[in-house]
Amino acid sequence: MLIGDDPASVTYVKMKRNCCDKTGIDSRFIELPAATSTSEAVSAVRHLSEDLGVDGILVQHPVPPQVDERAVFKAIAPAKDVDGVTMHSFAAMAFGLPGLLSCTPGGIIRLLDAYQVELVGKHAVVVGRSPILGKPVGMLLLARDATVTYGHSRTRGLPEIVASADVVVAAVGKPELVRGDWIKPGAVVLDAGCNEGNVGDVAFNEALGRASLITPVPGGVGRMTISVLLDQTVTAAEKGAGLPLGTAAS
Ligand code: NAP
Repeated sequence: MLIGDDPASVTYVKMKRNCCDKTGIDSRFIELPAATSTSEAVSAVRHLSEDLGVDGILVQHPVPPQVDERAVFKAIAPAKDVDGVTMHSFAAMAFGLPGLLSCTPGGIIRLLDAYQVELVGKHAVVVGRSPILGKPVGMLLLARDATVTYGHSRTRGLPEIVASADVVVAAVGKPELVRGDWIKPGAVVLDAGCNEGNVGDVAFNEALGRASLITPVPGGVGRMTISVLLDQTVTAAEKGAGLPLGTAAS
């Protein structure tokens, strides 16, 4: 579901639908006008939550300012929360229980696993603490026995904190905020940033010579986000998310 016509969101939805087509997942595009109210958006999502033909729901965010994003996410049936944005999914993740993960944090952990990055006892610095990205990725790293520090807009001495990290996750939304000389030689750098002009939150060319592994923008974390979305949609379908409410396998 896309509310409004934010150009970046339009592109993301198009990319996600293309990937659905390629992988054989049927997708339905619900487009709501920019002036949609919270109650209209909630009602549209509830409709999908109750639709037996739907296994997964993605509400593209950010939503327009007059829409209460949390209220809209709350209307997503937990079994269909393939983007991992509901409080139910967040709580399961926080308790270390199986569930649908927020896609970008899930993609970052999969990348670290694929490259066999050792996390136990390592210092991970996550720059950003949003509820769907920074905060959950830090919690997932903590669950892997990393020692986690969060940086945010009020953090003092961010360059020094990042310089002590074995693993850096940049999830800020500020082009090239993290400079190359902040990176400890040999650190692993994951750049979730996706700013105008395909610029990440890390100064890639500066950091390239210092990091042992670094994700590019585009083609790094963003791709993983979509992959996790598709994977979780298949999982939800296999568990019968489209069955009548309350009957899906847990
Ligand atoms: P958000 O909700 O705006 O959160 C940004 C975070 O960065 C906040 O915690 C904020 O701190 C912190 N921050 C802002 N300015 C800072 C500064 N100067 N120094 C340190 N921290 C600072 O953004 P988001 O949704 O987490 O997204 C972050 C980035 O990831 C964006 O570029 C977004 O486009 C991208 N993203 C990518 C994907 C993907 O698929 N690759 C998916 C989602 C998002 P406060 O909490 O103190 O305000």
